[in-house]
Parts: sequence; C-alpha cells; structure tokens
Amino acid sequence: MEDFQKVYIQKMGSRIEALLAAGQRLAINFEESATSIRRLAHSLRGSGATYGFPEISEFAAKTEDAPDHELSSALDELVKHIQTLYEAQRPDREHILVVDDSEEIRLMLSVILAKQGYKVATAETAKEGMDKLESQAFNLMILDLVLPDIDGRNFLIKMREDHRTVNLPVLVLSAKNSPQIKAECFALGADDYFEKPLDPALLTTRVAVALQRSHALEKETRSDALTGLANRAAFAEAFESQRKLSQRNDTALSVAMLDIDHFKKINDDYGHIVGDDVLRHTSEIIRVKLRQSDLLARWGGEEFAVLLPATTEAMGKTALENVLSQLAQQPYVNSKGEQIHVSFSGGVYQVKIDEDLSHTLSQADANLYRAKASGRNCVLSTNDDIEVRPHSILIAEDDDLTAEFVLHRLRKEGYELDHHTRGDAALEAARKNKYDLTIFDVKMPGMEGFELLQRMRSDSLNKTTPVIMLTSMGSEQDISRGLHLGANDYVLKPFSPMELLARIRRLLK
Ligand code: GH3
Ligand code: MG
Ligand code: MG
Repeated sequence: MEDFQKVYIQKMGSRIEALLAAGQRLAINFEESATSIRRLAHSLRGSGATYGFPEISEFAAKTEDAPDHELSSALDELVKHIQTLYEAQRPDREHILVVDDSEEIRLMLSVILAKQGYKVATAETAKEGMDKLESQAFNLMILDLVLPDIDGRNFLIKMREDHRTVNLPVLVLSAKNSPQIKAECFALGADDYFEKPLDPALLTTRVAVALQRSHALEKETRSDALTGLANRAAFAEAFESQRKLSQRNDTALSVAMLDIDHFKKINDDYGHIVGDDVLRHTSEIIRVKLRQSDLLARWGGEEFAVLLPATTEAMGKTALENVLSQLAQQPYVNSKGEQIHVSFSGGVYQVKIDEDLSHTLSQADANLYRAKASGRNCVLSTNDDIEVRPHSILIAEDDDLTAEFVLHRLRKEGYELDHHTRGDAALEAARKNKYDLTIFDVKMPGMEGFELLQRMRSDSLNKTTPVIMLTSMGSEQDISRGLHLGANDYVLKPFSPMELLARIRRLLK
C-alpha cells in the first residue's frame, strides 16, 4: 500500500464511528439517520475511488443507493469492509503499565485507557511492576506513590538509574495533597503528577501529551540534526532487526558506506554554510532515489551508511550507481546561481550470517576506499576487481650494476619494466610503445641520452611521457642541458632507491 493510501485508511476511525452511530439511531429516527448515512456513503464513494480503493467505492455506492429496507444491511457490509482495512493499518498500540495496590484504581484505569485504544497491563506491587518491565516493553507507566513493598519514590529512582527505563514517561498518582511531595517527585524524574481522586478526562489527556512528548524526544535522539536522516544509533538498531529478519526469511541484506568526493574543496570554495546546505541537498537526493525500505543514515561528517534489505551486493551496487547518476543530473545551485556538482564514492557489502555491524561496516569501508582509489564517483563491491594496470617504465641504462639495482627495486614495486642497454634500441622501443615514464642514462652506446630525449620528444607517442635523467656526479652541467631538452627530473649517481622511487611516484601521480 502506498503511503498516501495508508494515511487515508488510518483516518477512517472517525468515519467508522460515525457510520456505526448513525446505524444505531436508524431505529429511533430513521429519516435523519438515513440521510446522515447516505451523506457519509456518498463521500466515501468518491474518495475511495480517488485513493485507489474501488471496493470502498462499490460498497459505499450500494449503501447510498440502497432502498430504505436494505439500508441497514448495506451499511453493515460497508462498515465491515472499511474496518478490516482499518484494523490492518492501525499503528501499533501503545502499552501502558499501571502500578497501584488499589484494585479499584487498577480496574478504573484499565477501563478508561483501554477505551482510548491503549493496551494496559497492571501490577499490584513494585516487585510485580519491575518484573513486568523486565519482560515487556512499555511506552508509559502510571505509578502509585504508596505501594505495599517500597515507596513509589524509590521505585522511580531505580527506574531512572536503569538505562532501559531512563526515558520511560512516568505519571505519578498520589493520595496526599502535598506540594513538597509533588516537587520531590518531579525532581526524581516523574513526568506528571496527579492527586486522587482521579479526573479520568484529565488523566487521558495528560497520558496522550506525555506519549507525544516521548515520541518527539525519541525522534530527536535518533536522527541527525543537520539532515534529518537517521543517526548511528538508529542505524545500528535497524541493522540488528533487519539482520534477524533476513536470516529468518533467508533473504539477502547489504550495507553500503558512502563518502562525498572532495567535500573539503566545497567548504573551501564556498564556505561552511553552503557546505552544510550541499550536505542537506545531497542526502535528500540520495534518500528519495533509494527504495522506501532502504535506510539512509548520516554516519558522520560527509559520510553516509545505507541499509539495503532484500538486496544482494550486485543489486546494491546498481541501486547506488543510479543514485550517482541522479546526483549528476541535480547539482546544487547556490544563491548566485552557480552549479555545484557533487558525487560520492561508495562501497557495498553483503552481510553474511552472524557478521556483526562493525565487521560489516569495515568491509563496506574497505570497498569504499578502493572506490576512492580507483578515481572516485563510483561504487565498488567486494567482487569488483578494479583494473589497476601496472605503470610501464622504459629504462635506458648501459651500466650493469646500476641497471640491476634499479630493475630489482622497481620490479618489487610492481612496475612493468622495459630495459635497454643501448640508446638506439631504447628509441626503437619508444617509437613502438607508449610508456608511463622513462628513465635515461646520459652516456650510452648507440645513442646518447640527450639525443634519445630530443628524438622522443619530437615523436608523437611519448611526447609528454615524463623523463628522469640519471646523471653522474661531476657532470652537473648535463643537468641543465637535459632539463632544457625536456627532461622532468634528474637523479645524481650514486643514488638511494628511496630517492629514485620518490621521484618516480611524484611524476606518475
Ligand atoms: P575525499 O574525496 O577523499 O573524501 O575528499 P574529502 O575532501 O571529501 O575528504 P576529507 O575527509 O579530507 O574532508 C571532509 C571534509 O568534510 C572536512 C570537513 O571539514 C567537512 N565536513 C565534515 N562535516 C561537515 C559538516 O557537517 N558541514 C560542513 N560544511 N562540512 C563538513
Ligand atoms: Mg571523509
Ligand atoms: Mg569525502
């Protein structure tokens, strides 16, 4: 059922009541009640169709058009149908625990609260109350101050010390009319205070207020202030329940970590306020593009975690790639009308049986870092091999020892090496293959390094390939000549492998 349909059905409570009440009055005042029923049915006939419930429309039409003697039975059919839909859509009822030693009060509160739709449990003593709190989750508690086993105030203190009940709304009932006790109860963490005898209407109103406040608070502690998304705590909880669910139903569950690319630059270029706004903009686009059953949480800073139920790693990757293309189509536009394009890198990981949240996130994180390393603006899963082609290096060096030393070190780094001992042979190779980097000795048989450099620079294939010259100590004038001819860097022999590596890395970056 779509969200707007759920809302429509959830609002049916008052319609059902009105129809039932009018139905009961048919025997007393037929004309007036029949008019009222037909009016309600007419409105349902229209709205039912509009909201995608053709059966509601049908039953309502039958009721509206029913001859007088069939009105009552047509009404029954209509109410029965709406009621079924309504009961299925009713949000979970709130559970209230009443702890009071007076049987009369327990009975009275049970009746009043049940009438309001709450689920009520009762306890006669503090001990019994604690047992009930242990065994079941409650949304609110009504606590009598005078109990047979302990003082209600001590009970309150215990509850506020226990992390499971620290935020449970508690309304205190007192037989004594004492401002001091009242003040004390509030100080100990009571949310409201009533004196006996109880006013039922006042009590139910204040119960509703306390529940509302507690839901608002819960929402606040479980969502991120900047984006309104779920926070870490809410994500962790959702992860636990989804994991159990996916194990029970044997369905896939995946988790993704996303990190906005070069976000620091957005802050640097436009300021923090715009940065915050870009975060909001981006998280909203991601949230809307994902499925409704997916959970997007702000993990911190410009990092997001996504919970993807009923989703394999491959499906998750596709879903997030779709989000990326959506983001590319919807850049943030600042107050000057400038477009700011945002992308993220993502890592997806499919949860295996019994893997906990921290393991899962570290796996998703590892995939995220591979996504960053492979150029950002992409999503990687565990099975994606990023193709890292090794860098190829052309080496022209005639000295055996130097060559061996360089080759050995660079091979260990994973570079693909093409070594020549003559300058002319190296030039031949440079005419045939494109290299990522070249390293030339100056003095070589066949062709000197300078000529090789010059010729390579005039050739199209390796015109811009970085060149490092190996120059001997004592021939420093070669350096300026080489740089002049287009070399990018030089190393003086003898050199340390680390020095050469540092220069290679800098030029390959
Ligand atoms: P990379 O692609 O490697 O992720 O680069 P990056 O710049 O996004 O990564 P880095 O982690 O270096 O920088 C993240 C920046 O995000 C630094 C921090 O100031 C900024 N940031 C974190 N949280 C917020 C926030 O709530 N608002 C704003 N405006 N900036 C934030
Ligand atoms: Mg970061
Ligand atoms: Mg980042």
